[in-house]
Amino acid sequence: MTIQLHDTLRGKKVPFEPLIEGEVTMYLCGPTVYNYAHVGNARPAVVFDLLARLLRRTYKLTFARNITDVDDKINAASVETGKPIDEITAHFITAYNDDMGALGVRPPDIEPRATQHIAEMIAMIEILIANGFAYEAEGHVLFDVSSKDNYGALSKRNLREMIAGARVEVAPYKKAAHDFVLWKPSTPELPGWESPWGRGRPGWHIECSAMAEKHLGDTIDIHAGGQDLVFPHHENEMAQSCSAHGGAPFVRYWLHNGFLSMDHTKMSKSLGNVLLVHDLIKTVPGEVIRLALLGAHYRQPLDWSAETIESARRMLDRLYGAVQGIDVSDDARAAAEVSQTLLAALEDDLNTPKAMAEFFGLARSLNKASDAKTKSELAAQMYACGELLGLLGTDPDAWFAGHVEGDLPAEEIEVLIEKRTAAKAAGDYTAADAFRDQLVDAGITIQDGRDGTTWRRSRQ
Ligand code: AMP
Ligand code: ZN
Repeated sequence: MTIQLHDTLRGKKVPFEPLIEGEVTMYLCGPTVYNYAHVGNARPAVVFDLLARLLRRTYKLTFARNITDVDDKINAASVETGKPIDEITAHFITAYNDDMGALGVRPPDIEPRATQHIAEMIAMIEILIANGFAYEAEGHVLFDVSSKDNYGALSKRNLREMIAGARVEVAPYKKAAHDFVLWKPSTPELPGWESPWGRGRPGWHIECSAMAEKHLGDTIDIHAGGQDLVFPHHENEMAQSCSAHGGAPFVRYWLHNGFLSMDHTKMSKSLGNVLLVHDLIKTVPGEVIRLALLGAHYRQPLDWSAETIESARRMLDRLYGAVQGIDVSDDARAAAEVSQTLLAALEDDLNTPKAMAEFFGLARSLNKASDAKTKSELAAQMYACGELLGLLGTDPDAWFAGHVEGDLPAEEIEVLIEKRTAAKAAGDYTAADAFRDQLVDAGITIQDGRDGTTWRRSRQ
């Protein structure tokens, strides 16, 4: 079956056909590295990781996910914390990759960093100026939106209406309010690079256009990101890239995930209601978070609450419960195919709710099966599906023992409890509290009773 994808530009689901037969290029706007990623930020990473896994079954995929490591928010974080910019970005790049790795997100093929592509950005800006699409003013370079006929096509906005509705005060160096920055001057204490327009730094949109061109070519097959990026980020990327490439199409399929809210309020760093993946994975297995993120169709909004996690955990318990204790030989695993129904659901614009329903259907069949061979085949098929979805990666016994990778082993927990008990008996309450904090930080809840101290992992 041909893969069907919903393209934001055409506003509908269309059959997917890459530019070059058998090969696919995909670009996903990655993190701005000044903070830990929240669960909302993880949604595009997880959803498009699943798309990458699906595409790799059929195509030779080149998947780039960039890192925005030059940005005013990073500069502000440096001023606020007093830490050098490089230290901040290095720390959050590692944290991002570790946190997404815990959710089963595989590394992209290319992870370009904006600061390593300044020359490409300058070259693209020079072409835009030379061809009349951009102009220089007071050390800034701006994209002249009026030079682009179909500006607004991606975000379905009409430029004339936008201009009429604009209330913003127009910066003196701009010809029109909607012209956007390609390059801006830097003060001596801010990061900056020499350019034909003086020492400065790039605007955000040109970063992605230049990195996509360098690694994937003038026309890319899939460009993905969260819905909030449609305007202005992707609209502007499209305007720049098409203009710099003589009108050649920039992207064949634009994919955007819906927003994640928490208790019905948009989750965003600026609102401060964020749940960081970095914190969540201390007590919740990454697979639970991944399944919760894949539980809704990627274009639909997803509301996150404590119940979202609990329901995903119960679902995984059912899946692991089905395969637990079933002997699956390596040969059976190698021979197993992903269920055709599950595959068809994913190929239909990544219909994960339908794919999960089929996954549970397999678990039910396995629970009902009576002969060992059928059980083994069904379990092998479930593992094949799990491999594609990025689920069922833990040994079932370990899953139910509550021990997942990164967890504190039971013996170490017992040792800490003994040390705490001894410290309390000796009257050293500071030490006792420190041992208790160590356990709490590792996601362990302890309870003192008449028969001593018991413990459990907080997620159980
Ligand atoms: P940022 O680091 O803010 O540039 O965001 C990184 C990615 O996360 C972008 O693709 C955003 O569209 C996406 N994103 C941010 N907040 C949310 C949210 N609450 N729900 C879903 N996606 C989001
Ligand atoms: Zn981007």
